[in-house]
Amino acid sequence: MENCLFCRIIQKKIPARLVHEDETVVAFEDINPQAPVHILVIPRKHIATSLEISPEDNPLIGHMVRVAADIARARGIADRGFRLVMNTNPEAGQTVYHIHLHILGGRPMHWPPG
Ligand code: AMP
Ligand code: ZN
Repeated sequence: MENCLFCRIIQKKIPARLVHEDETVVAFEDINPQAPVHILVIPRKHIATSLEISPEDNPLIGHMVRVAADIARARGIADRGFRLVMNTNPEAGQTVYHIHLHILGGRPMHWPPG
């Protein structure tokens, strides 16, 4: 998608601090971190929101979660705890319409979230 910010990051047209890259997903540091660890895991495939995930994407979504868990382990926040978040549509605060899993950790998290 030409005018999708995260597609442009995948295509390396916009710089990002990459954390992980493989055939199907990319992970990078969030530009406006909300916790000591704040990393986004995105699929190379453009999917606008969680509502557009189809059954054929099941392995991809599973891989995104596993990559997120591996990154949490590598960053030393796995045992303490961390949060995986996928905001969907405006009331949830989605601002980039290319699905992304937020990895948030390194500080205590509040519940319920704001
Ligand atoms: P959301 O509000 O759930 O759609 O999350 C979008 C996230 O993308 C926010 O946490 C932003 O800080 C982050 N973000 C926006 N632009 C960039 C960028 N160029 N590089 C890295 N993260 C970004
Ligand atoms: Zn995209």
